[in-house]
Amino acid sequence: MISTKALSGVYNFHSTDSALIQMFPLRSHDTCAVRPQSRRASGYRCESTSNVLTIAAKANCFNCITVKWSPVVQPLADKRAVLLIVDGMADRPLIDHDYKTPLEFANTPNMDRLAKGGLVGQLDPISPGIRAGSDVASLALLGYDPAKYYTGRGALEALGAGIELRPGDVAFRCNFATVDDDFRVEDRRAGRIRKGTSKLAKVVDAIKIDSVPGIRTIFKATVDHRAVLVLRGEKLSRMVSDVDPKEEGAKIAISRALDGSEEAKRTSAAINEFVKRSHEALREHPLNQERANDGEKAANIVLTRGAGTIPNLPSFKSMFDLRGCCISGTPMVQGLAMAAGMEVTDVKGASGGIKTDYEAKAKAVIEGSKDKNFVLVHVKAPDIAGHDGDFKGKVRTLEEVDGLVGHIIDEVDIGLNYVALTADHATPVGYGAHTGDPVPVIIGGPDVPASRVLKLSEASAARGNLGRIRGLDLMPIITDLVGRSRLYGS
Ligand SMILES: [Zn+2]
Repeated sequence: MISTKALSGVYNFHSTDSALIQMFPLRSHDTCAVRPQSRRASGYRCESTSNVLTIAAKANCFNCITVKWSPVVQPLADKRAVLLIVDGMADRPLIDHDYKTPLEFANTPNMDRLAKGGLVGQLDPISPGIRAGSDVASLALLGYDPAKYYTGRGALEALGAGIELRPGDVAFRCNFATVDDDFRVEDRRAGRIRKGTSKLAKVVDAIKIDSVPGIRTIFKATVDHRAVLVLRGEKLSRMVSDVDPKEEGAKIAISRALDGSEEAKRTSAAINEFVKRSHEALREHPLNQERANDGEKAANIVLTRGAGTIPNLPSFKSMFDLRGCCISGTPMVQGLAMAAGMEVTDVKGASGGIKTDYEAKAKAVIEGSKDKNFVLVHVKAPDIAGHDGDFKGKVRTLEEVDGLVGHIIDEVDIGLNYVALTADHATPVGYGAHTGDPVPVIIGGPDVPASRVLKLSEASAARGNLGRIRGLDLMPIITDLVGRSRLYGS
């Protein structure tokens, strides 16, 4: 037996070092996740300066030859985890693409590398067949049971947009949209307007509600055609229906009280007046004249949906004993992280849109994982391509996400730490909407059995070694791997 004290400096070890191999069960070489660029002609070089446990994990194949180490043993609980949520990643096979899904079509060497040496399985965001919204699915992935904690998406968006929500406020998700004179929706996203929305938001923010006394409105543009509205005042309720009919060609809906309460009646009356006034304020806006001249759809109304109140979440730290930070350009995810007491890193260039700065995100993950032991990263782009029915776009965004995965697994040291990757739901391009399919999930890092899956896909995930789990199972599994789970029983 080799004493760990004797093992500082550079040590060449061979498969004949049976004592070491018993101490640190090694994998066969084909499942080794060691960085390809660190290969040497003489074999595979795994370098680490941190500790013995790193070696155990870094030298995770018989061909890993040279190992640098120091005799300090890192406590189990110092491990970290990164969770990457790829919004809408999963899809269904398409007949016109040789029965392949965008994920199967995409070239994703880094996801494949993570999958090969890690746990791979299927995940039902809520439960089998349930079509989940991003909000409830993200709650579940972070370990919060939506049945217990979900209080509507609007509040999460408002928090993420930097509005200080108070108890009693009711917040709404909004879209700038295009309607005709008959209030029929021509385009729910006003031609996916990207520029000038903060100017439009100014006139909408100034709207005063006359028909219902004692209500103030706060309105803010967020990403692309999206915005948030907060109603502040006495006797408000989130139990009101949406104005957004969610389909083009339909007339806008009238908001109604869902539970017949006085509060809900007041709230829906305020919303109906707000929507009417938004049309009056935006119709003649100079920006819309410009858009008309350029042949673009006018952003001539604000449609509301997803009423919500501030959720009462126990802190993420109290649930999992992990200090978390969040890297996302999507207000809903940022709001959720804030409500869970995580630090939200403001990443310049993380847009929450179809084009985002993956380099900046990768840097933020590396920085975040230095003083936090849990980093949540969220990428929205594949979901947008899915909603747009854009196969090529989805393939491209998945390949871009793969680059981000490469950065993360190279820098975060998956010999010591864990990187999990999954989706919040499927957004198949053939449907342009969320479906209730299970999504792939990978957890890579030390001590996990290698799946030996060669290519990450919806189908290979079904043959993986993790089986089929639910969204709520993910955080307990990660917490246990990083060594921070509490003992159940005694
Ligand atoms: Zn989503």
